[in-house]
Amino acid sequence: MRDKYGVVIGLEVHAQLKTDSKIFCSCSTRFGDDPNSNTCAVCLGLPGALPVLNEKVVEFATKTALALNLRVNHESIFSRKNYFYPDLPKGYQISQYKEPFSEHGWVEIMTGDRDETGHPRDLQLKRFGITRMHLEEDAGKSLHDGMPDSDTRTYVDLNRSGTPLAEIVSEPDFRSSWEAYDYVQYLRRVLQYVETCDTNMEEGSLRCDANVSVRLVGTEAFGTKVELKNLNSVRFLQRALEYEIDRQIEVIEGGGEVVQETRLWNEHENRTYSMRSKEDAHDYRYFPEPDLPPLRVEQEMIERVRAALPELPEAVRRRFCEEFGLSHEDAQVLSATRALAGYFEATAAASGNARSSANWIKNELLRELDARKIEVESSLVTPARLAELLIEIDGGRISGAQAKELLPRMIEAATPLAELVESIGGGQINDADVLREIVREIIAANPKQLEQYRGGKEALFGFFVGQLMKATNKKANAQIANDLLKEMLAPGS
Ligand code: ADP
Ligand code: ZN
Ligand code: MG
Repeated sequence: MRDKYGVVIGLEVHAQLKTDSKIFCSCSTRFGDDPNSNTCAVCLGLPGALPVLNEKVVEFATKTALALNLRVNHESIFSRKNYFYPDLPKGYQISQYKEPFSEHGWVEIMTGDRDETGHPRDLQLKRFGITRMHLEEDAGKSLHDGMPDSDTRTYVDLNRSGTPLAEIVSEPDFRSSWEAYDYVQYLRRVLQYVETCDTNMEEGSLRCDANVSVRLVGTEAFGTKVELKNLNSVRFLQRALEYEIDRQIEVIEGGGEVVQETRLWNEHENRTYSMRSKEDAHDYRYFPEPDLPPLRVEQEMIERVRAALPELPEAVRRRFCEEFGLSHEDAQVLSATRALAGYFEATAAASGNARSSANWIKNELLRELDARKIEVESSLVTPARLAELLIEIDGGRISGAQAKELLPRMIEAATPLAELVESIGGGQINDADVLREIVREIIAANPKQLEQYRGGKEALFGFFVGQLMKATNKKANAQIANDLLKEMLAPGS
């Protein structure tokens, strides 16, 4: 049934710009302060208080817009978006409607469906349009859950009121839930690279609403869209979309019609619930904000910001594939943050071995750091130290198994590598004669296993490898050990 339908998705992402102060007053944006402690006449919405635009917000917005290939308008207009809500004391939100801050952007990213194990398949480079990115102020926060008397009362915290938001509205360009997922993941990367947003979906510094509709394959016109809210992670976004696509198809197949509405994702029940019929723009009675002049952004400032942009994550990913021959998946992991990308490049340069740098960082270092909740940039294992370890492996002076044992010790202390190697009993044994002697002893001590192995139980090869590693404290050169065991265990040898 699903094959009969095509999917259309468009996303609206609200990104909190991480300036120190709010968009129209100088109150702090610090998260976690006492409720209502970071407020003033402006962000409380007291009558007569006048908003003044924070310059830093314009700089952050310009950075973000350029990173998303948006055209920054030289002049944009703030408007009042009117609605009633307890956490919006003014009765309107200052936003932008006509003449937004920026328009006509796009991103080009690798995207594809996932197989049963969650791995991407049929990855391809796709371009997704971004209609506009405009500026607005955040509302306050209504607290219902976990508060005293929370079943009878709602608490309002206005610390968030006036926090700067960039709303990034995409074109209806996504054709599957995974494309939407990959896009939001990419947005998060870009915002982290340009350092304008924390992108923490659980804390709400990045919030995503998804619009989704279905249509019969071959139909040009879009179907009626439903807006999904309360998507507190990218996984929820993807699941909510899947649920909603199935629900809409079921409605249509049952002879019904999809109603335009807003639905809330319930993460405990894995389903969406109708919240309200969707309001139209005219319900908000938008009109230009009389207390703020048009926002002017000079070309000179745009060029200054553009010149200072870092290399962006998709460009880094592609370069890692081309320059170092990494697989897409490795390059994707290693370009996850600017810090990690820099770490990898520095390690590759210092070790002269990009392949093993990639493998060791991705398969060993990140896991060990993760387990200790240490960020790569603050780890005691600097690129220089990791490179030193890799050079020792490449030079045959320590074994891979030894290196795996050394790495956690390098994370715990800045002890010189030579000392650490001594502490585990010295470097790798590459001398075949020495190893041959040890293998002889192992064979002599395990006649039963030898007989079984020679009788065809080949899995016992691993047993002998294990014995040799144990006898040598993992110091045996793995390649030589392997060859020797093959030769000495063979029948008739
Ligand atoms: P509204 O006026 O309801 O806010 P917009 O046209 O501004 O609608 O679009 C809001 C978001 O919904 C955009 O991201 C857009 O790409 C997306 N969108 C628009 N129409 C559809 C549709 N039929 N199906 C899915 N997404 C859509
Ligand atoms: Zn304030
Ligand atoms: Mg709209």
